[in-house]
Amino acid sequence: MALHIHNRKQPTEPIPTDVVDALRATYFATRYPSQSQHDAAQAFLKRLRAARLWIACDCPGEDQPPALMAPREPEHAEIHLFQFGQVQHAASCDFARAIERGSQHDATRLQGPLDEPWTIRPFIGAGGLLNARLDQILRAALTRSGIGRIQAADLERGERPGCYVQSGATPAQRVGDAIRHVEIDDHQVYEQAGLHHLRSIAKFAHTEAVRRLARTTGGYVGLAIGMVDEVVPAESGKPSGLVLGGRQGDRFVVYLEQPVTGAETSPKGPYWAAVALCRKETDTALRVLTASVLPALDRLTGIPLTSGAHRAPVRMLLEQAIFWKTWASTQCSVALEFPLYDGVSADAVISTPNGRMVEAYFDVDEPVTRAPGSWGDLPEPVYLKGKPPAKARLQLSAAVAKAVNVNTA
Ligand SMILES: [Zn+2]
Repeated sequence: MALHIHNRKQPTEPIPTDVVDALRATYFATRYPSQSQHDAAQAFLKRLRAARLWIACDCPGEDQPPALMAPREPEHAEIHLFQFGQVQHAASCDFARAIERGSQHDATRLQGPLDEPWTIRPFIGAGGLLNARLDQILRAALTRSGIGRIQAADLERGERPGCYVQSGATPAQRVGDAIRHVEIDDHQVYEQAGLHHLRSIAKFAHTEAVRRLARTTGGYVGLAIGMVDEVVPAESGKPSGLVLGGRQGDRFVVYLEQPVTGAETSPKGPYWAAVALCRKETDTALRVLTASVLPALDRLTGIPLTSGAHRAPVRMLLEQAIFWKTWASTQCSVALEFPLYDGVSADAVISTPNGRMVEAYFDVDEPVTRAPGSWGDLPEPVYLKGKPPAKARLQLSAAVAKAVNVNTA
């Protein structure tokens, strides 16, 4: 296992051993790091962040792409190391564990891939911590399913304008397949004690598995992950809920004991939801404790978003990705990724077949001053905030054309 600097194209120089040791001690050790190690790790991450560089870990093997890590500096929190991307570290790698340190400054938004088991029992009765845990599980499940990563080759325009369809399994199937074998509470895997179809909550409550588990010490604790159409915010005296709409316009509402979190101000979905379920031996029915949700673009693609306001720019990018398949200056199928964790990379990352990336920011102001040539032959990021759509599309196309046609020799 060796760590290298990654310049957003490829690994470059090795990271010195004392810095690797400081990173390991600061973010991955079970004991607290020495002050000098903590300071060295933070100073290193600040330099990386200023230079827009990442870290590559070669533990997946020589013929595999590296596992990526990057400095992340959310608002109101200290800079810390963050694992991201589709490639997982080897199980034996020192950097494979979920990052614990750093989250002490950012308790409501725990970061990065999540170690198994995805337990919720310890968080029951802990107020908002249960919602924070569900948010963490939901992001981990969606990231693991790869549903926020779209291949233009699989993407077509739908029947209605602004609708897009992907070939292959449905979003719900992809998420279900990705988490089926994940261990959740009480040594159960999701397939055994989890629930994918929220509509079947009533039926599920009476399954033999739930009855049997409810009789064991502490009762049954389970998890439901799926897509819902709307949320019902809690109002005076009325509970919060999740709404599933049927094809015939019927509505099925799952009421929650504690208010849903993550829905911002708009009740309109769709949303991805992670729901905590519980049934003690003394409970007459299955209890739906609470839920955490994340906006989804729509039911057809299921692309999860960090904000409902991202629906419009994401649709623009899907339209552009289809356009770039045949446009003379690009003629390629890009991959689009919409990262689910703030503050590590852009809101959208467009990868071209020759391994280049164009980053797009949706909500950040374009920097006023920029060092000329600081991006070298890397395409500069595109800032969409406040731009008329026509101008935004032109800038995106120019950046992708530059990325596709750069001399890679
Ligand atoms: Zn590794």
